[in-house]
Amino acid sequence: MKVTFLGTGSGSTKGSARFKSGILIESKGAKVVLDFGSGIHMRLEDLGVIPDAVFVTHLHIDHFSGIFDHLVRRKIDNISPLRVFTLKEFGRILEAVKNSNDIDAIVHESRFPNATIEDLEIYSIEACHKIPAVSYVVTDGRKSVIYTGDTAEPCEPILNEIPRADLVIHEASCLDDCKAWGHTSIKEALRYVEKPVLTHIPSQIEKGVQNLVGDKAIIARDGMSIDV
Ligand SMILES: [Zn+2]
Ligand SMILES: [Zn+2]
Repeated sequence: MKVTFLGTGSGSTKGSARFKSGILIESKGAKVVLDFGSGIHMRLEDLGVIPDAVFVTHLHIDHFSGIFDHLVRRKIDNISPLRVFTLKEFGRILEAVKNSNDIDAIVHESRFPNATIEDLEIYSIEACHKIPAVSYVVTDGRKSVIYTGDTAEPCEPILNEIPRADLVIHEASCLDDCKAWGHTSIKEALRYVEKPVLTHIPSQIEKGVQNLVGDKAIIARDGMSIDV
């Protein structure tokens, strides 16, 4: 599998250095996107990638608002409808703007979204956030990747799943403590996870992040790819 970071900024990130959340996972047969914040549609267009499906971790705006721009692109270019796997309520949000924009998508709502897309199996587990949220595990049968989405550690379901993963993509939204907002700090991510790839980072704390992380983790950046 090839993992490409389309957007690595938190909801609070400023400017264009890091777009909001989005990760592309490509296998031999499938292209899926985990979360689809603002800017992700532009990254996909730059790469010339049309995803087969999108999996949304939760309904905070920085994790799904880019989908609407992408649906407009699909309409203009006459591309088949996007499949969106999501928690409840996304369908209602889409419904509100669908007719006025002449866009559509095939929405699969579930408390724990899961699907098989060609050679990729995707399933979700409970994350520990301010609102209902999941983490996704993606596997091609040989290797597996876990993407936490937004979560505050220690989060038991995630910590139980992590030892089985070949690559751990973990959120890290502040330097010290952001539990009150349902997030994990850089310090906590390093304490609970061995060699994670850190994402969901506010660009305004970039220097502090680098100083704390050193060689203990990989700091994801927009455009970075990792082969798993
Ligand atoms: Zn977020
Ligand atoms: Zn969130």
